[in-house]
Parts: sequence; structure tokens; C-alpha cells
Amino acid sequence: MLSTRLISSILKLTSAAIRRGGKRAMSDACAAEAACAMEEKFQLPKRYGKGEKSVWVEFIEVAAKTKALNLGQGFPDYPPPKYVTEALQSVACSDNHLLNQYTRGYGHPRLVNALAKLYSKLLNRELDPLTNVLITIGAYEALFTAINGHVSKGDEVIIIEPFFDCYEPMVRAAGGIPRFIPLRMLSEPEGMITSSDFCLDPDELEGLFNDKTKLIIVNTPNNPFGKVFSYEELEMIANLCKKWNVICISDEVYEWMVYKPKCHIRMATLPDMWERTITIGSAGKTFSVTGWKTGWAYGPSNILENMRVVHQNVVYVHSTPIQEAIALGFEKEIDRMDNDPENCFFYTIVDELTPKRDFMCKFLAESGMKPVCPEGGYFILADWSPIESQMDLSTEKDKFKDYRMAKWMAKNVGLLGIPPTAFYSAHKELAEKYIRYCFIKEDKKLKQAAEILKKMKQS
Ligand code: PMP
Ligand code: GLN
Repeated sequence: MLSTRLISSILKLTSAAIRRGGKRAMSDACAAEAACAMEEKFQLPKRYGKGEKSVWVEFIEVAAKTKALNLGQGFPDYPPPKYVTEALQSVACSDNHLLNQYTRGYGHPRLVNALAKLYSKLLNRELDPLTNVLITIGAYEALFTAINGHVSKGDEVIIIEPFFDCYEPMVRAAGGIPRFIPLRMLSEPEGMITSSDFCLDPDELEGLFNDKTKLIIVNTPNNPFGKVFSYEELEMIANLCKKWNVICISDEVYEWMVYKPKCHIRMATLPDMWERTITIGSAGKTFSVTGWKTGWAYGPSNILENMRVVHQNVVYVHSTPIQEAIALGFEKEIDRMDNDPENCFFYTIVDELTPKRDFMCKFLAESGMKPVCPEGGYFILADWSPIESQMDLSTEKDKFKDYRMAKWMAKNVGLLGIPPTAFYSAHKELAEKYIRYCFIKEDKKLKQAAEILKKMKQS
């Protein structure tokens, strides 16, 4: 299909050619034809859709332009544990010059050993570091290899809404067909709404499974709701996976950020689920170093083998010094888990985040919004519909109301959040009244956010 712009330029050039006649006109017509051929050939392949900017690309630009207080993208704005950065320093200055060269493609030996040790303990099953663990460039690449290593054209993939936004484009680009099911609030509680008020409808879920279903992607704790799936909920999913012979991708990047009394349950520990579960983790979340872009997948060797094939052909190997430094971090924390649990970062991160979460829930409620108190992760969704009259969204042109609200707030009030319809596909209407804020931020930033919302209410 030719674009309207191109057709009109061809028409213009052709009619000019007819008017002027002669050689010059002929060369104009040839140029138009060449431009047309280039536009045709140099298009983004259809498997990437229309090539819209992701919510991250768009909102990082909004943050830069508006200079609003940024509670959007999820990353800590304060330093990671000192020993983690010191580990990287020591690796960079190490006499072992080979740490500057390529390491083993499927994962640096020291890091896969550390991860196998950690998860063998947590899963109560012996993991082989060489066949059960794959190191990737962030959890993003683990998702990419898991999806591309298993999805063929026409395979169906069940995705629970809200979902981390890259799941859908990755599935589509692999030729898969995403089938969506939203978490729904079954009944609104009297007090504070929490993330466990949002659940899957068992019949709706069962109705999505069929012979074409290849994968289901579960994210617990969930981004953006902070929902921590209960044993019963995971069991319901697991039973359907077993009944329909489906692989479960369990995105557990927020595994250490689960607030009491909830606890994190790993899908791979459910009966007969190890054989069909790919679990994904991220050092970015685990050690508060999102810029180090180190992720991993663990699971049975036959399934990981498919992922290794994809990995070897897209990135082949991740950075050696970063992997070595993260391995040192894990070695320290694995030791602390047994010998010094009070100082183990896997546990203390929750103590650090719980007051931030509680403070944010409080000031959001005081501002007139209705926060959904998260039981995991470091994001809060808040229903802003009760304070909509304080905004003039007519100045914003986006299709979805939450995008208009997020941009209006950044420009006019100076507070930036992420519009959660970005985490939905088939049921975007369920998310338009929400905004997502990130609370792994310095206390003084959270206080500033509280002040901003207080002022907004008073004005
Ligand atoms: N999954 C979820 C649920 C996430 O929130 C993120 C965001 N970081 C990722 C995967 C990707 O993680 P990474 O930065 O390690 O690629
Ligand atoms: N996971 C982070 C978030 O949800 C970062 C996402 C990103 O930068 N792509 O905010």
C-alpha cells in the first residue's frame, strides 16, 4: 500500500512532468518512482505493528521536557548497597585481566554457580548451574528468549492484564496470538483497597486454554498492581497448564519485594510445575542496580536449551565484569541468609520499602485519590477519578484518559506518573481511571510529592 503522502507527491511530480515535457520531466518522474520504491522497501516489518513509542520512551521524554518530580519509571533514585558497587570497582581493578574479555555465552561460571546455589535452596531441588540457568541482558532478554524459543506462528499465549508492557509486542513479533484476561475487582472492600482485591475469574481463565495454547505469562509480584498471587491462584493456573500441556513463564523480578503478611510463592515449586516453568529474575531489582541490565532464567534443561539457542544468536554473551560483580553480591547475600539474616539485603529491602509504601498510600488517600495498596513490588496504582474535577484534561489530546491525566499532571502540577493503560491491551477501559506511581524513591522526594498533591487539593 502506498501512503497518501507518497501518492500525492507522485501525482504532483507526474503532472509537473507532463506540463514541462522533455528530459527534466522524465528524471523527476524517475526520482518519484525511486522514492516510492524506497518508502515501500524500507518500512518497519509488520510484526512490529505501527512502531509506536513505548510508554517508557514517551514518558522519559515527558519527564525531561516538564522537569516534573519523576515517580514514573521504576528505579531507585538512591545508591544501591555499597558492597555491590565496590564489587564492580574491585572487578574493574582486578589483576585477572580475563575478566575484561568474553565469558561463557550462557552465563559467567561464577554467576550461574551462585544462582544455582541460591535457587536450589529456595526450590528445595538441585539445580545444575550449566543447564538449568541462563544469564540474559536484563529480564527483558530472558522474556525474549523464553517467548522466541517457544512460540511458532499461530501459537496462543495467555497474558494476564495488567502486564509488563513488552509481553504483548514480543509475542506478536514471534508470530504468536496473545489472549488476554484481566484481573478484576470482584467487590469493592469497605476500607483501603489492596492488590489482592483484584483476581482472575476461574471460568474466564479456563475458557482461554485450548490446544493452540503454548504459554501463559504470570507476573508475581505484579507490575503495576503489586498483586502477589496466592498459592490457590497459582495452583489454579498450574492445573490448567498441566491439563493443556502449557509452559508457564513466571516473571518474578520483584521476588524480594513482598510485604508482610504476604509471602512470595515460586510457581516452579508447585507440584509437577518445575518441568514446565521458566522463572525469570533480575539483578536490577534484586540489588537496586537497574542500569546493570542483568537478568536470568532458570528451569528444566530441555526448555532452557530452546532459550539458549535464541540467546546465542541474538546477544551470545552478557558483560563479564558486571556478571562477576553480581556473583560477588550473591555470594555475600547467600551467606547472610544463613548467618546474618538481619543484614541480608533480600530481607532488609522490604523494611526499607514498607514505610515508603505506607506513606504513599496515606498521602494519595489524603489527596482524594483511591490508592490500591500493593502487597509486592514498588509501584502503586491510584484511582484519580474522585479528583478529576481539579484537572482540565481538554488541553491534552491522547486517546486514553490516563495518558491525558498523566501529561496534564506533569505539565501543570509537576508530578509525573505512568498511565496504566500501557499495561493493558484488550481491556484498557479498566485502567483509564488509574495512575501508577513508583515509591522506591528518596523520602524527601516522596514528601515533595505529598506537598504537590496537598497544594493541588487546596488550590
Ligand atoms: N518484568 C517486569 C515485571 C518488570 O517490571 C521489568 C522492569 N524492569 C522487567 C521485567 C525487565 O527487567 P530488566 O530491567 O531486568 O530487563
Ligand atoms: N520495570 C520498570 C518500570 O516498570 C522500568 C521499565 C522500563 O524502563 N522499560 O517502571
